[in-house]
Amino acid sequence: MSQHVAIIGGGPAGATAAEHLAHAGARVTIYEDRPGWEKPCGGGLPFRAVQRYPFLTEAPAEHKAVHRAELVAPNADILHIELNRPLLIYSRSVLNQLLLHRAQQAGAQLIKDHIGGFSRQGARWKLQGRLAEYHADYLVLAAGARSLLRAQLATPFAYRDFMLTLGYYVPACDDVLRIQFFEGFEGYAWSFPRIDHLDVGICGKTCDSMAGLRLRLRRFVRSLGYSLPCEAAPVFSHLLPALTAESWNNLRLAGPGWALIGDAAGLVDPVTGEGIYFAMRSGELLAQALVSNAPETYPERVWREFGCRLALGARLTRLFYCEDFLGQPSTTRLVQFGTGSRTFLRLVGDLLEGSQSYAGLAGRLYRILGRTFIELAAHAAMRRAGLRSTTAWP
Ligand SMILES: Cc1cc2nc3c(=O)[nH]c(=O)nc-3n(C[C@H](O)[C@H](O)[C@H](O)COP(=O)(O)OP(=O)(O)OC[C@H]3O[C@@H](n4cnc5c(N)ncnc54)[C@H](O)[C@@H]3O)c2cc1C
Repeated sequence: MSQHVAIIGGGPAGATAAEHLAHAGARVTIYEDRPGWEKPCGGGLPFRAVQRYPFLTEAPAEHKAVHRAELVAPNADILHIELNRPLLIYSRSVLNQLLLHRAQQAGAQLIKDHIGGFSRQGARWKLQGRLAEYHADYLVLAAGARSLLRAQLATPFAYRDFMLTLGYYVPACDDVLRIQFFEGFEGYAWSFPRIDHLDVGICGKTCDSMAGLRLRLRRFVRSLGYSLPCEAAPVFSHLLPALTAESWNNLRLAGPGWALIGDAAGLVDPVTGEGIYFAMRSGELLAQALVSNAPETYPERVWREFGCRLALGARLTRLFYCEDFLGQPSTTRLVQFGTGSRTFLRLVGDLLEGSQSYAGLAGRLYRILGRTFIELAAHAAMRRAGLRSTTAWP
């Protein structure tokens, strides 16, 4: 490939695209404002990511492998989950540095600069940096969720296409990944244990105010038994794409001479907010399309591999967080069913590990429904008989 590719943004999307392009012999430059910064993020990577990118466990970079999770229902019921395959929790600074290093090792150039804008000059692009002006044949925007540069290429996302997030880095140690659901609230609070601290945060659809989010988060931190950071304590905050079903339908990922990848493209799971894997994978899929001299195939590759499933997630979000099932919030039912049924618990574990997609979810639920209810009935009978008082399936 003889074209010079310019990538704006050196997060997981940009760095992965650059690595794969450079490996294939392309000339590629990453323009990154803050290389290897601690982007506000849980840094959680499900097993699916490790399967695709084994270097995530093999690399010497430090991460925490988490084998246990707890889901807490709005009514405070707790589901304890032993994960068959651990989740990896990375500090984002460590992960970003690792990915940028791999891109540079493969031959990509990294320029530390902020790109303020770009324009077409015939068949080429002119990028306006703070430090200099740059030129390229193909433009990749990997500048994340907050970048205003997106508006130069595609319709800007609407307010309702985001979740707000807030969080603290708590100086404590833990081995359990904890998730708290709230009644009628489209989002959740989390505590992700890292090597030497906890990443504790909350994400919520933009209908909740920042003050409302902060209040929920402070209650969550208190429920974990940690002393509360004072009002003025450093808080991280960032936008998380969570596209509506309508926005998925109208999503444009590429045009003549340009493409969007990662958060800049909106490629985040609208239910869980997971985006690192999809950022990396979209970067890799774009690189494959460009190297095959078929850039027009990139949107189709994304759609086929995971876009259609994330779009389905957008239809499930409100159902999952805000609707009732059998007279209780769906999230409470999820915790109760997982506690009382080994079969259902396996499904929840697979969702957490990333091996169960939304596409096959309805079918699997249908298949396991009968067995789940039998196990729930047996669990209830055992509890009445005093044989088991807590979680049925250790
Ligand atoms: C609070 C929070 C928690 C999250 N937790 C998780 C999680 O646990 N697991 C998970 O999978 N996902 C999580 N996500 C989502 C995840 O952070 C993103 O999906 C992922 O970072 C997307 O990668 P990216 O490369 O597309 O964008 P980013 O990681 O945002 O990288 C974009 C890069 O572009 C650079 N940049 C921006 N503008 C310019 C410019 N004009 N010039 C030069 N450089 C520029 C930025 O400095 C940045 O480094 C979370 C998100 C948030 C907000």
